[in-house]
Amino acid sequence: MRFDVITIFPHFFDSFLGEGIVRRAREAGIVEVNPVDLRAFTEDRHRTTDDRPYGGGAGMVMKPEPLFKALDSLSRHGGEGPVIILSPRGQVFNQRVASRLASEERVILVCGRYEGIDQRVCDRADMELSIGDYVLSGGEPAAIVVMDAVIRLLPGALGCGESAETESFSTGLLEYPHYTRPREFRGQGVPEVLLSGDHKEIERWRRRQSLRLTLERRPDLLDDAALSPEDMAYLKSLGYKGGRCSS
Ligand code: SAM
Repeated sequence: MRFDVITIFPHFFDSFLGEGIVRRAREAGIVEVNPVDLRAFTEDRHRTTDDRPYGGGAGMVMKPEPLFKALDSLSRHGGEGPVIILSPRGQVFNQRVASRLASEERVILVCGRYEGIDQRVCDRADMELSIGDYVLSGGEPAAIVVMDAVIRLLPGALGCGESAETESFSTGLLEYPHYTRPREFRGQGVPEVLLSGDHKEIERWRRRQSLRLTLERRPDLLDDAALSPEDMAYLKSLGYKGGRCSS
């Protein structure tokens, strides 16, 4: 998979690309990330990418010409793929969107700055994506969030022993708690079941912990989660009033 990221700060991505899972995935040829310097598509001496808003008001707006030129150049080189503008007005990013993007061969991300991007560029894009209901200074941190969540879903990106399958949201629920050594730490132990070696019981405990945490913290997720009759019975015993089970 390949990401092209249009930005006025291409070096913003240096440490993201050089560490951990993302570095390994790049080195293994699983993903290519190409920060594209928007200023390379300007023609004036000051390499201007913004201008004052028509109609007046505070702040500056990213000009259409360099962005269109960058997009034209990318679509000439390297095939098709959705063009996504990072924007607080966009569809809210979640694990489902991440999975959908992970099936693309190529994605072009456009990072805004200032007050945002000329609407004609937004109209050319396939979608606008928000990483949450707050305003960042630029689209670069949002692009990193999106790429990180997608890259870890690419086959082979996670190392041996790491898995995206049981993580929060992949099952529609929040993940269960983890424990590691030492067995006793500052007077606190580890749940006995995890030491029992009984894998069936451990799985049952983990499922129940996921259900309990999701009910406590994100009950909205239960509406769409695949719940068995046993899950439902457990949730009801915890006071859950909703209800629809999948089998
Ligand atoms: N004036 C815009 C508004 O009120 O919606 C905010 C512009 S923001 C200061 C500058 C850029 O940061 C945006 O163009 C966008 O690319 C990025 N950005 C800010 N918040 C974001 C969010 N929650 N998700 C994705 N991108 C965001």
